[in-house]
Amino acid sequence: MSYIRRQVERMSGYVPGEQPKVAGLIKLNTNENPYPPSPKVLEILRGAIDGKLRLYPDPTSSALRVKLGKIHGFDPEQIIIGNGCDDILNLCVRAFCGECEKLAYFWPSYSLYPVLANIQGATQVELPLDENFQIQAHTPLLSKLDGVKLVFITQPNAPSGGWLQRVQLQRVIEEARGVVVIDEAYVDFASEHCLDLVSEYDNVIVARTFSKAFSFAGMRVGWAVGSGELIAALNKVKDSYNVSRLSQLGAEATLEEWDYFQQNVKKICATRERTSAALAKLGFFVYPSQTNFVFTKPPVPVTAKQWFDGLRAKNILVRWWDADRIRDFARVSIGTDEEIHKFLEATKEVCEEAKR
Ligand code: PMP
Repeated sequence: MSYIRRQVERMSGYVPGEQPKVAGLIKLNTNENPYPPSPKVLEILRGAIDGKLRLYPDPTSSALRVKLGKIHGFDPEQIIIGNGCDDILNLCVRAFCGECEKLAYFWPSYSLYPVLANIQGATQVELPLDENFQIQAHTPLLSKLDGVKLVFITQPNAPSGGWLQRVQLQRVIEEARGVVVIDEAYVDFASEHCLDLVSEYDNVIVARTFSKAFSFAGMRVGWAVGSGELIAALNKVKDSYNVSRLSQLGAEATLEEWDYFQQNVKKICATRERTSAALAKLGFFVYPSQTNFVFTKPPVPVTAKQWFDGLRAKNILVRWWDADRIRDFARVSIGTDEEIHKFLEATKEVCEEAKR
């Protein structure tokens, strides 16, 4: 007899991008922000390392919810803070989709969704994106939503980086009987967002993170907004003290430094456009990106795996998956201009070596 639940024994865990401790590595594999938190945020965090750390944090991160509510125009009761956006996604599965109930997600998208479904013992419904990684909300696809309790949609999509057409996304929301979570982890780099859909539909939750645009991946702060009823359900199943004192304080300080972070977002988007153009010039196929990464396919005869391995040998990490539909591509997080310059030089060398 095994000690482990059968469901857990059979499943594979989520595989995060590598976080090696090698010095001098150019890390373009986990979509972190290449710029640090603002000096003011760091100063506030340093100042908060004191005896109060013996006390538990505010269990519902209320000051942060009030600030986010003011910025985005929602009642703080409609907002929940998580230990990263991943925590929020996990809470949604716990609250809205029971064992053997249906959980749907588009594919290819964030590889955490099937893992969360597996942990719960939920029945997975994979909704294929088309060859352009867009939703084609035709009848056969929509019929798959029958009886689904929870749908995850990544907007903008990952790893393709593209913006999903809003009309198609709305058809999915209207057709789904269950809760639809729009995972906007990368939305701060996009020219649109879907927060208004929360007010329009009572089954929509939008989830966001401080990890990307706000340089806070190491502190783990995410949030979600939805109807008071849905958010109250998430509050019931969350850990009591799910966000640390320092994380709450740092996230609050971050929101006071809006201009600093918007400048960084602008820089990253400009570097993204230059990176895409430079890769296209080298013969790569590059999907238009609304995120802080690009999803791209090297020119024949170079394979994505060869390119990934070649870059790795030169101490540059990008992300490659040995998975259906995406193994011909690699995902490159946007770094500083200097990092991207080195990445492009290394890419040229790897392509030349592969062609020899
Ligand atoms: N959603 C998507 C699509 C992501 O790529 C990520 C980051 N891996 C997350 C959510 C989770 O972000 P966080 O760091 O806030 O947990």
